[in-house]
Amino acid sequence: MAATSQPAPFNPSTRVLLGPGPSEVPPRVLAAMGYPLLGHLDPEFVALMDETQSFLRQVFRTENRLTMAVSGTGSAGMEAVIVNLVEPGDTVLVCVNGVFGGRMVDVAERAGAKVHQIERPYGEVFDPQEVRDAVSKIRPKVIGIVHAETSTGAWQPLEEIAKIAHEFGAMIAIDTVTSLGGVPVEIDAWGIDAAYSGTQKCLSCPPGLAPVTFSAKAAEAIAQRKTKVQSWYLDMQMIQRYWGSDRFYHHTAPISMNYALREALALILEEGLEARQARHMLNHKALKAGLLAMGLSYATAPGYELPQLNCVRIPDGVDDLVVRKRLLSDWGIEVGGGLGIFKGKAWRIGLMGHGSRRPNVTLVLSALETCLIDLGVKVTPGAALAAASAAYSA
Ligand SMILES: *Cc1c(COP(=O)(O)O)cnc(C)c1O
Repeated sequence: MAATSQPAPFNPSTRVLLGPGPSEVPPRVLAAMGYPLLGHLDPEFVALMDETQSFLRQVFRTENRLTMAVSGTGSAGMEAVIVNLVEPGDTVLVCVNGVFGGRMVDVAERAGAKVHQIERPYGEVFDPQEVRDAVSKIRPKVIGIVHAETSTGAWQPLEEIAKIAHEFGAMIAIDTVTSLGGVPVEIDAWGIDAAYSGTQKCLSCPPGLAPVTFSAKAAEAIAQRKTKVQSWYLDMQMIQRYWGSDRFYHHTAPISMNYALREALALILEEGLEARQARHMLNHKALKAGLLAMGLSYATAPGYELPQLNCVRIPDGVDDLVVRKRLLSDWGIEVGGGLGIFKGKAWRIGLMGHGSRRPNVTLVLSALETCLIDLGVKVTPGAALAAASAAYSA
C-alpha cells in the first residue's frame, strides 16, 4: 500500500489588508467566531439576533422595523433588495458609474425588471439634475444607486436624489456596502427606502452576512406583491418571520458569522459613529497627502474621494502586478488592482474600519515609495512620510 501523507495544517500569513475588502478584522471579532455554537432557535441566539437588529438600526440610523442581516456577502444584500422590491415588468432606473452599478443592472434584469440606466464615466458622481431628467421621463418604481463605488473610489451624495425619487413617487435603493461604518449613512434623515451592506468592508467583520434595511413604504410594497419573490432564499417575507417573533424556520442562520457581526457592531457603537467617521477622514487625509507628495494622483473626481477607498492612477511605465506582488511578498500588504476599465490603470488602497490606522498609512506609503523608486520613478525619498506626518499634526 502506498504511504498516505497527513494533510498539513493550513497556516495563513498575517496580511495587512489594505484593499477593497475584506478589510482587517479586530481580534475581538475574530475571537467571537470561536464561541461555542448555539442552536439557531436557542433563546440565547434569538436574543443575539434581537440585539443585532437594534445595533444595525443604530448604525444605519433608522427606525425601520425591517432591518436585519441576510445570509451571504454584500452581493446577496444587493439581490435581496432588488428581487424583493421588483416584480417582473417593473421599471427600474440604475445609475451606473462603476462595476457595482453595473452589477445592480444585471441583478434587476434577472429579476425581470425593465431596466433603464444612466451612466457617468468611472470616477465621477451623478448630478441630481441628470437623475431628475431621467426619472421624470422614465417614471421608475425603483431607483438604484451606489453610495460608495468601490471600483472607482467615488462618493455619491444622495440627499437630493432621494428627494427627487419621492417627488416622483419612486423608491430609492442604495448600495452602502463600502460606506456603512466609514462615512455617514443616514437612512431615515435622507428618506432612503432600501439599503444593503456587507460585513467585510468598513464594518470590519469577515465576509458572510449582508445587513439590509427597508422603509415602511418598501415593506408595504413587498407585502403587496402580486408575484412570488424570484429567490426562495432571499424572500424577505419568509426571512422576517424568522427574525420576527414567529421564529419560523427558514434556513439555518450562520451562527458564528452572526456572533462576529454582533461583536463588530458593538465595537462600532463603542467607538461612536462620528468618531469612527472622523478617524476614517483623518487617515485618508494623511494617506492622500503622502500619495500626492509621491507624485501620484487620484482617479476620482476631486471633492468626491471616499476616505475608505483611495483609487490612484498607476504612473506611466509602472507595471501594476509587479508592484502589487512585491507589496504582498516583501511587506505582506494587500492593495487592490483596478476593476473594469481601471484594470491595470489604478490601485485601490482601502483604509476600511479597523484597517484605517496610522501605522497602516505609514507602512503602505513607505512600501509604495520603495517600490516606485526601485522601478525608476522620480520620487523624493521621505517626502510622502513627511507629508502624511504633517497631515496628522495639522
Ligand atoms: C464589495 C461590494 C459589493 C459586493 O459585496 P461582496 O461581499 O463582494 O458580495 C457590492 N457593492 C459594493 C459597492 C461593494 O464594494
